Amino acid sequence: MDYDNLLDRGLSKIPEQVFKSSKYETPQTESSIIGSKTVIYNFKDVAAKLNRDPNHLLKFIVRELATSGTLEEQRASLQGRFSKEALDQLVVKYIKGYVLCTSCNKPDTKLLREDRLTFIVCEVCGAKNPAKTLM
Ligand SMILES: [Zn+2]
Repeated sequence: MDYDNLLDRGLSKIPEQVFKSSKYETPQTESSIIGSKTVIYNFKDVAAKLNRDPNHLLKFIVRELATSGTLEEQRASLQGRFSKEALDQLVVKYIKGYVLCTSCNKPDTKLLREDRLTFIVCEVCGAKNPAKTLM
């Protein structure tokens, strides 16, 4: 087998990222369950990587989990016990709903509130689409 074939085989094993753009990769949460709470240690980093307000991300997560939570410097603290897998899945859901451009699928976007709607404005293709999930 030649080198190119090996390379192809290797590449096909790399799991598909949510972000097609090579600039970004899906941020992973670092969390642990403490008593009846779940603390996400790198919460603000995750929000920063998505270029989003941590308060907006937290609001989304607590609504999805039907719980309450608070921001404390870098961390977020949630009422209840939630697995890292569940939290990472919510980050992916948030990315799909509030970060990726619906037209070109790039993550280089901004949120815009207009009237009572949230729009995703794309800095790559200029599209302005309503966010898929309403807050
Ligand atoms: Zn776009």
